[in-house]
Amino acid sequence: MSTTGRNDIPLLTLLDGEAVSHFKLREFENRDGLAMIHRSALTALELTRRDLYARYGETVWVLITDAVRTPDDLQRLAARYGWTDAGGLVARRSRHLAEFGGIAVDLVAVVARTRSRVPQEVVGAVCRRYFDFVKYDYQDGHVHADMRERVCFVG
Ligand SMILES: [Zn+2]
Repeated sequence: MSTTGRNDIPLLTLLDGEAVSHFKLREFENRDGLAMIHRSALTALELTRRDLYARYGETVWVLITDAVRTPDDLQRLAARYGWTDAGGLVARRSRHLAEFGGIAVDLVAVVARTRSRVPQEVVGAVCRRYFDFVKYDYQDGHVHADMRERVCFVG
């Protein structure tokens, strides 16, 4: 089955009253094509992208490496990287879980013209301006960012 067109939908955000759209729903898919992104996280991503553009004076791509996860996705990751309560990298109550409403993203940034990676600590520092929680000490260079304070949940 072809997945062409699946979640191929531009997401629109208003920044200071101006419509911007640099992300598609597809970028937030898990491997089964399930996609979810919280409005506050999308806005934070657009602001992050805008700040990186201003810093470099040219287009910087913000690339989503992981977004919403099912419990199965989490189990698969934990099998590889371990649970945090066992010294690993994967939180059992990961904000990537769908129950949190699409508030978490993992990302990297790349200068479009040169294809060079923006340093992890630069991306992380910019994300800290807009996301509630940011972590950027991962070996593979990605930044985790989420909007955990914006979402009310019980339990
Ligand atoms: Zn993450």
